[in-house]
Amino acid sequence: MAEIINGKEIAENILNNIKKEVENFDVKPTLAVIIVGNDPASKVYVKNKIKKSEFLGFNSILKELPEDIQKEELLDVIKNLNNDKNVNGILLQLPLPKGLDEKDFLDEISPIKDVDGFTTYNSGKLFKGEKPYSIACTPKGIIKLLETKNINLEGKVAVVVGRSNIVGKPVANLLLQKNATVIQAHSKTKNLPEILKLADIIISATGKEEFIKGDMVKEGAIIIDVGITRNKNGKLTGDVDFESVYNKVSYITPVPGGVGPMTIATLMENTLELYKLQKGIK
Ligand code: NDP
Repeated sequence: MAEIINGKEIAENILNNIKKEVENFDVKPTLAVIIVGNDPASKVYVKNKIKKSEFLGFNSILKELPEDIQKEELLDVIKNLNNDKNVNGILLQLPLPKGLDEKDFLDEISPIKDVDGFTTYNSGKLFKGEKPYSIACTPKGIIKLLETKNINLEGKVAVVVGRSNIVGKPVANLLLQKNATVIQAHSKTKNLPEILKLADIIISATGKEEFIKGDMVKEGAIIIDVGITRNKNGKLTGDVDFESVYNKVSYITPVPGGVGPMTIATLMENTLELYKLQKGIK
């Protein structure tokens, strides 16, 4: 029977430590969040990010921009936030509405204010095994979950399912840096069940509802489920069929309450770290 990794609790500890640290600062860290358009899910995510940053004692700036904003106008908003000495972190909520390409904007965020770690500078540093200013929140949160459980990754076979720039690729890089042997699977991978069977650790980030079943995983494996989908009954589910996997593996993250809370906690941690970097605080 598996140990369920309680991401909610681990994230709360991180947030409480941040809150305590922030109490010592006269000038508080400031996080600026830009949202373009009216995507309901994005609005909820943004609201939660602002709420959490205020809970921690951060200042927050919310830029709500219309769906039909012109490219130049959005670039100006980013430029002004880059130039604003009081702003320590900038987040551009994705996805952008149709007609705007995130590639035109992400690299306009100053790398030292890039709380999501999505700029080419920061993701490139990560890729090279050098120290970026910030690391993408979900991958960083996943590594923290594993570290909290004292899981040694060296020499372990890790199968990452998914190769997005925000989860799959950076988490594979981080695992490699921890000396895991990493296999990156994706929608064109053949014989995924056989590959999954090799895994000491599976990190799945596809958004395909409960497609990893108990008979696909090795006895004692560690399962990190990043996927979030709402099933036909309105319930949040992951990539992993929890019921059939649970009895076979050693650790598993639940959905919800696993990786999700860590993503927001590491976002807040990134904001604090960038603030300290900008202020020269060790
Ligand atoms: P993307 O849609 O960008 O990427 C999905 C990846 O899954 C792609 O690389 C795709 O392959 C791969 N994939 C799709 N179907 C299969 C399949 N049948 N077998 C193997 N691989 C497959 O998604 P994201 O990375 O942005 O997010 C993935 C999931 O994680 C989503 O459910 C999202 O909601 C969730 N998420 C959760 C977060 C959290 O905080 N818990 C944070 C971020 C995301 P290919 O490249 O070939 O198309």
